Amino acid sequence: MTRGSYMKWTQEANEALSKVPFFVRKLVRKRIEEETTRVGAALVRPEHVQAAKERFLNRMEDEVRGYQVETCFGPTGCPNRAIICEGLPRVLEETVACRDLRSFLKKVAQGELKMHHEFRISLSDCPNACSRPQIADIGIIGACKPAATSEECTLCGACTAACREEAISFPGDAPVLDYSRCVFCGKCIGACPTGAIAQDATGYRILVGGKLGRHPQLAMELPGIHPEKDVIRIVNRCLDHYQRHCTEGERFGEILEKTGIGALLEDVQTPTGTANCRLSGRVSPVRFDRGR
Ligand code: SF4
Ligand code: SF4
Ligand code: SF4
Repeated sequence: MTRGSYMKWTQEANEALSKVPFFVRKLVRKRIEEETTRVGAALVRPEHVQAAKERFLNRMEDEVRGYQVETCFGPTGCPNRAIICEGLPRVLEETVACRDLRSFLKKVAQGELKMHHEFRISLSDCPNACSRPQIADIGIIGACKPAATSEECTLCGACTAACREEAISFPGDAPVLDYSRCVFCGKCIGACPTGAIAQDATGYRILVGGKLGRHPQLAMELPGIHPEKDVIRIVNRCLDHYQRHCTEGERFGEILEKTGIGALLEDVQTPTGTANCRLSGRVSPVRFDRGR
């Protein structure tokens, strides 16, 4: 799992990476940085790139882990984060790693394992969705839900200027929020000088079944905004559903086409799952520190 890229690369290493086939370049970059860190180096050099390139091109199946957890660049200082929960990526990684999806896929997939067999989870800290959760098997998007309060509204217009979705109107002397338009970015909360719009809840939106390939489809969104502790439970139920119905290495989206989103929602509401494991970490408390 990576939170974007924190490592320094030499110019030669970057040039060498640019020659790696584009469809595995991002993953190769990630694995190179993991391997470089493992051997105690702080700077990625061309030899690190060359070694990884050879591994990928000659022994692709060995590089297939069975899953990928990707995140956006939010923690590097992005001001757009709707929620700050630094522990969630690590716990997501542990949640999926302990299922040994590589062994599972080896049993069910036809032929050699390929990168496209991997189960992908993508986390973005705001609705700008830089890590492309809409095309992941499970996409997770940080959300901050606003609400009108009893504080005085001065009709300054700062909230409507901040809202690109035009989800705020003023039929009277107080703001009214249209949640069917709202994407829960939280920008209006930071813009409001009086607190007439304030944070109601923070959490995550969860999308399922996105994919590219020959028959691309955008992920479907499950209802609600979910606190981080529920995110792990829902991801586990989704993985239960996936492993119960995956018979040939299909992507989650293909499985949902057969079983239907209703069957998944029933599984999501099930309190216990079939393949939990002990997690070494806990999700850290949520902080929402965007100042007014
Ligand atoms: S998804 Fe949002 S928080 Fe993450 S890097 Fe993009 S703009 Fe920043
Ligand atoms: S949270 Fe974002 S989308 Fe929703 S009303 Fe506020 S600014 Fe608009
Ligand atoms: S930013 Fe706050 S005070 Fe200004 S119009 Fe919006 S709700 Fe009212």
